[in-house]
Amino acid sequence: MKKPSIAIIGAGFSGIILAQKLKNIGEVKIFEKARGVGGRMASRTKDDFTFDFGAQFFYAKTAEFQEFLKPFIEQKILNSWCGNFVEINDYKITYQRQWPAEKNHFVPSPKMNQLCKELSRDLDISFQTRVAKIEKNGKKWQIFDDKNIFLGEFDWLFFSIPAPQLLDLIPAECNFFEATKNVKMLGCFALMLGLEKPLNFNYDIALVKNSIISWISAESSKPQRKNSASYTILARNDWAQDNMENDIDNVKNQLIDEFAKIIQQPIAGIIHQDIHRWRYANIAKQKNNVKFFLDNNMQLGACGDWFIHGRVEACYSSASALFNEISKNLK
Ligand SMILES: Cc1cc2nc3c(=O)[nH]c(=O)nc-3n(C[C@H](O)[C@H](O)[C@H](O)COP(=O)(O)OP(=O)(O)OC[C@H]3O[C@@H](n4cnc5c(N)ncnc54)[C@H](O)[C@@H]3O)c2cc1C
Repeated sequence: MKKPSIAIIGAGFSGIILAQKLKNIGEVKIFEKARGVGGRMASRTKDDFTFDFGAQFFYAKTAEFQEFLKPFIEQKILNSWCGNFVEINDYKITYQRQWPAEKNHFVPSPKMNQLCKELSRDLDISFQTRVAKIEKNGKKWQIFDDKNIFLGEFDWLFFSIPAPQLLDLIPAECNFFEATKNVKMLGCFALMLGLEKPLNFNYDIALVKNSIISWISAESSKPQRKNSASYTILARNDWAQDNMENDIDNVKNQLIDEFAKIIQQPIAGIIHQDIHRWRYANIAKQKNNVKFFLDNNMQLGACGDWFIHGRVEACYSSASALFNEISKNLK
């Protein structure tokens, strides 16, 4: 019997996991608007500086995810980040400890998207292809890009993109349209600073409270990063949300000033500065038990971190749960 044709929209971790699971039971094609895989597991390089400007690290709490990651740990694609961690509250360090190797604060090497890269080697992906429209033609779905160019015809469509972007694509008759409307994702700004020399403070990672900044990473403390003075600073989600449409240089300057205040020294010798606006960065832990959406009649489905929590492991759980359900129909 001919295998069903399947399109997956989005080559972040969720889409890649789903594709890996579906590839034996369908003809799978992925469409991704960016130039590469990884989505919010993202890194940016400038000269000697490297910044992970999305996810910083991840945990593997479930036995299934731990098992899945084993080969990547053995190949040293995944390593444990053993940085010196602090909590800062009201500009004072309130807690400090070295992250132990066995605690497994996982970081892919040499960059954050490496795990997705490894997993996508045997997948068929069209990059720089933004899916902008889907239309039913008889029993098949036709999909089009943002220039209305026809991209192909498929039996099933699965989306692994943030909920607000999903809402722009699915028809109102789809059984998960209304539920998708209710999903609220939060924004973030990621400030990236490359300096002449490392700053002088005695920690690598800071979880910051009572500030417009929520997180500081000294990138060189991560495994296999180039040893230079690269710092990634993340804004607090609610502050980012309130400032989403503000002038980006103004946002950047506010974050630089706040960074200086937190580390109690001027940020000297800035060689490189950059900021990324994430409109849909994160979502709080979800209370309902829905791990994916599936409309069997329309042959549409969706998975992603946002069903569970804005965490890398949630992508694995959501994509796996969706696969388990659809494989009942596609076998
Ligand atoms: C600043 C920040 C910090 C974070 N920190 C952590 C952390 O420390 N630990 C942790 O576990 N998690 C963290 N996360 C969350 C983690 O990054 C996400 O949970 C995970 O990467 C989501 O993966 P995904 O595949 O579900 O979605 P995404 O990674 O968002 O993938 C969706 C993909 O779809 C593509 N796409 C969207 N629309 C279209 C379209 N119309 N056509 C084609 N392609 C499209 C996008 O380009 C993207 O590649 C962080 C996220 C951010 C932004």
